[in-house]
Amino acid sequence: APQAETHAFQADVQQVLKLVIHSLYSNKDIFLRELVSNASDACEKLRFEALAQPDLLADGGELAIDIVADRDSRTLSLRDNGIGMSRDELIRNLGTVAHSGTRRFLESIAAGEKVDAQLIGQFGVGFYSAFIVADEIAVTSRRAGSDEAWTWRSKGDGQFSIEPAPADTPRGTTLYLHVREDAEDYLQDWKLRSLVRTYSDHVGFPIRMLKPVAKTEDDTETPAPELETVNQASALWTRAKTELSDDDYKAFYKHLSHDFADPLAWTHNRVEGNQNFTSLLYVPGHAPFDFQAGRDERKGLKLYIKRIFIMDAAEQMLPAYLRFARGVVDSDDLPLNVSRELLQESRQVERIKGALTKRVLDLLEKIARDEPENYVKFWEAFGAVLKEGVVEDTANRERVLKLLRFATTRSDSADQRISLDDYIGRMAGLQEDIYYLTADGWNAARHHPKLEALKARGIEVLLLHERIDDWVSGYFHEYAGKRLRNVAKGEIDLDKLGSEEDKAKQEEAAQAAAPLVDKLKAALGERVKDVRVSNRLVDSAACLVVDEYDMSLHMQRLFAAAGQ
Ligand code: ADP
Ligand code: MG
Repeated sequence: APQAETHAFQADVQQVLKLVIHSLYSNKDIFLRELVSNASDACEKLRFEALAQPDLLADGGELAIDIVADRDSRTLSLRDNGIGMSRDELIRNLGTVAHSGTRRFLESIAAGEKVDAQLIGQFGVGFYSAFIVADEIAVTSRRAGSDEAWTWRSKGDGQFSIEPAPADTPRGTTLYLHVREDAEDYLQDWKLRSLVRTYSDHVGFPIRMLKPVAKTEDDTETPAPELETVNQASALWTRAKTELSDDDYKAFYKHLSHDFADPLAWTHNRVEGNQNFTSLLYVPGHAPFDFQAGRDERKGLKLYIKRIFIMDAAEQMLPAYLRFARGVVDSDDLPLNVSRELLQESRQVERIKGALTKRVLDLLEKIARDEPENYVKFWEAFGAVLKEGVVEDTANRERVLKLLRFATTRSDSADQRISLDDYIGRMAGLQEDIYYLTADGWNAARHHPKLEALKARGIEVLLLHERIDDWVSGYFHEYAGKRLRNVAKGEIDLDKLGSEEDKAKQEEAAQAAAPLVDKLKAALGERVKDVRVSNRLVDSAACLVVDEYDMSLHMQRLFAAAGQ
């Protein structure tokens, strides 16, 4: 036999393996979900490549995933007749950590952050989870269209080997797991069936297992084992809503997102008419690790065309501020050979994007209305992202504003819990506008001198203290027919809010202060635009104000810090 060639795992892989084995020890079940999900991906990839090259599908039969356990040899095997892997792909895909997210994750662990087992599944460490239950793994694979086959083998101990496999190896990939003693359950037929039904029922390909054979005493020959399909084997979103339970939806979400936790909510719709498409969209309950930094890795939405997986297309089909959403859209009308560029320009896609945006906003409104506790969870995880919608989505600005939550001068913490509707509902009698203030952090916001006069008059002010707020509030103009006014900019007409008596006092004070104002103007000269007597301060002696259309002080400081 030809000599096997030995390779060392990339250093990162060692670390991932250790982590996975240790932290997922009590979540062993997930390995099967991960391996089935890889097999299903491989079948989808083949079906996609076969659109351009139909011969790739020759001689393979129906696309399927077979799971066979053999207790005598303690081997669990998973076979798929999907795309397969070439020698190089085996080395690259199973010997390195390709995902940049995984690398950042490892860095944060190295930096001493606590590891949460729940996070680990998200990083394309899927394959390595097989080592939770196996002490040795062999992967034999033939890439569709190739006549070479190769076997990759490892004990998960720092190295793997690669050697040629027999020429009659069928297309696709077979994993052989040598099951550890403490994981023997996974060689039991009932256990495997129950896992497949729980986690992989919705996988769009048949998952087959051996039919149990009833042996009788006088049987001399064992009948040839037969395979039977264990799962539903139809893509979940193609099934009728009435046929699906909450658990079905949750399991599908976990399959899509690699999240261990349940989603907060979902919306499943079929649109018929001008355009025909089905969408299933989820709102997760927490942000994936590194969500903020991962702006460019937008894998949340899978595009299918006529049940065939085409690509991850969140960037084309959802606005950036809804990038937390996860799901599937399956179009009947887009051409199967669609490219990313085509998606970018397609008016059909533009319309689907509009419809999906509306669905997500509907769903968020529903959570906010019916499940306030869940909305808090959502807001804590994704509020800062949703805020971008005020800038990005002019058409839906009012709806996005309605979904925002704020801290205000009446909050006792930095938590953002008050909606604009709440605010309007408790506006003071004479108040017509909505007041807000942006500042660098919660403390700076609530102790801002410009709040004094408003507080004294019992006027509530929204306190925007997050980094993104200064930018977003630049697009705050109106909500529910009311002006949104920045307290830190221009003169707020407090006269409207206070009594006539106050007004008279203010005029008196202005006259009395006139000589002082002149002196200050002379002393400050060019350094200020104007010196005015203000009726906005109560405890402070003076404060700096910017004109309504000037850059805010906070922005000016940011620009100054950037050397501009
Ligand atoms: P992910 O699925 O998130 O990419 P995995 O660790 O699960 O990460 O798998 C790593 C890679 O190995 C996959 O991206 C794929 O290219 C390859 N792979 C794994 N299993 C199979 C399979 N059954 N058939 C073909 N390729 C596979
Ligand atoms: Mg995977």
